[in-house]
Amino acid sequence: MRRRFGVSIPEDLASELDDVSRECGVDRSTLVASALGNYLASIKHYKKRHNCLGVCLAITKGELGLNLEEFRDVIVSYQHSHTDNMCVNIFLLKGDSEKILKLYYKLEKNCLRTVLVPLH
Ligand SMILES: [Zn+2]
Repeated sequence: MRRRFGVSIPEDLASELDDVSRECGVDRSTLVASALGNYLASIKHYKKRHNCLGVCLAITKGELGLNLEEFRDVIVSYQHSHTDNMCVNIFLLKGDSEKILKLYYKLEKNCLRTVLVPLH
């Protein structure tokens, strides 16, 4: 069952939505439902403190600009690779979800792009 309601979004975002919809051959409602579902799931995931397992990707043009030792209790592994004139930082994270979020927000401030994916 579907529910219809009106929302307003910035013009540039609406144009991007139209472009992606056209390019992928998927209607706007399906794209919006998918994006919103992923966003809400990630918010719900971190709303309650728990023992978490996840992967974080952080794209930079150089150094991360933060002290990783501060997060050694949640960083299981860390890989820094170079490709296409950028640095790709990959973290396997396990432990207190609040500490993982704290690391994520610090990375988000310093990096060109940061993605955190829970694995459970
Ligand atoms: Zn988790």
